[in-house]
Amino acid sequence: MSFKSFKLSSAIMANIDKCGYETPTPIQAEAIPKVLGGHDVLGLAQTGTGKTAAFALPIIQNLADRRHGQVRALVVAPTRELAEQIDENFRQLAQGTGLRTVTVYGGVGKGKQVQAFRQGVDIIVACPGRLLDHLNSKDLNLHQVETLVLDEADQMFDMGFFPDIRRILKHIPSQRQTLLFSATMPKDIRKLAGETLTDPVEIQVNLDEPLELISQVICPVSKRQKANLLLHFLKEETEGSTLIFTRTKYGAKNLARKLEKSGYAATSLQGNMSQNQRVKALNGFRDGEYTIMVATDIAARGIDVSRVGQVINFDLPSTAEAYTHRIGRTGRAKRSGRAVTFMCFDDQTMVRAIERLQGIVIERLHIDGFEMATETELKPKEQRQGRGGGSRRKPLGNRRPQKQSRSKGKGSKPHAKKAGNSMKKKKGGKSSSTSKQGGVFGLR
Ligand code: AMP
Repeated sequence: MSFKSFKLSSAIMANIDKCGYETPTPIQAEAIPKVLGGHDVLGLAQTGTGKTAAFALPIIQNLADRRHGQVRALVVAPTRELAEQIDENFRQLAQGTGLRTVTVYGGVGKGKQVQAFRQGVDIIVACPGRLLDHLNSKDLNLHQVETLVLDEADQMFDMGFFPDIRRILKHIPSQRQTLLFSATMPKDIRKLAGETLTDPVEIQVNLDEPLELISQVICPVSKRQKANLLLHFLKEETEGSTLIFTRTKYGAKNLARKLEKSGYAATSLQGNMSQNQRVKALNGFRDGEYTIMVATDIAARGIDVSRVGQVINFDLPSTAEAYTHRIGRTGRAKRSGRAVTFMCFDDQTMVRAIERLQGIVIERLHIDGFEMATETELKPKEQRQGRGGGSRRKPLGNRRPQKQSRSKGKGSKPHAKKAGNSMKKKKGGKSSSTSKQGGVFGLR
């Protein structure tokens, strides 16, 4: 199949050419004719499948030849980064059509967004909260919206946006075209689809496909050795950049700082950063200024950086689905990638859930000098306070304030030796190498 078969305008065809798209991806082949024909679409597809262009191309074609300057297409997306990415795709594909787009999200001033509404826009790409803000303060009306896209619906659900989306829906004509995309289709998404779509065409692209390009390994490790194991992996030659996931915003910021101090071109992406900082970090990571990004799950979905060669799960995510999204940041654009997951004693249940979801047993990679603890590990702070070794805590009322012990225990800083360990792939057994575990900075 070729893009020609969609009979798109010559301006759009030229833009497709400029983007370097030669043939439609499977989701584009299925969705574009349906959207052009005015159908509602329920798409089960991840990012990386070309789904943005699958809805952007027909929307641009449908809007281009008519009166401009009123919001006729609205795309709602979960994160600012994804909104920017979708907007960028619209801009590239709509060049020369005269259509105007604007992104709407929080964390930045409202002024520019309001100014854009006043000047007239055709397409809005928005996150739910700020969009609702504008609607409530009557900066904007959506009475002319013809096409609504709900993108990454499952992430919007996870982020608690469904009540906002239902409020937004009240501002949009019920006679409209609706396109809903989601990487997974649990009950709540089906319910929203039932409420918002009319007689939709269902399109599913093979969710497993991108994962086939990703080699996955699990590395058993103790909590206190994680940072050193990370350095071990960073020392290896890999193609492309590295995306590291941590559980907390603080963890992401802290780890990126430490890596930077150790001489790596590292940055972080987490929810405590200002919008400017987030954009700067993401752009720097995309254009190669930073080769390492440490992020929380805000970067797990939707973000398209085709050069990510490896994803390292420094901390496991809280759901098995989130793991799939995280590792999907590598192996993009038909490149291969690897996903390395650190597994501590307490992570074993989640690892089993991840394996069940994928229907595979992920290979265990035992690195010399790194081993998983055989029981739940206390946080270093707790150990310093003398709670390790099975000692019982007395009821508060009976305790006298104690001087904190700073003795070197499990939580103390690892030795500052250079890591010289070799990596051996071994299924289920201990490694036989004698090299020592090194430590450069003391992180958990
Ligand atoms: P998406 O799933 O929309 O995030 O797209 C993933 C990546 O695929 C983006 O970098 C797109 O620019 C790219 N892409 C979209 N459609 C095509 C196509 N037909 N051929 C090649 N690349 C494409």
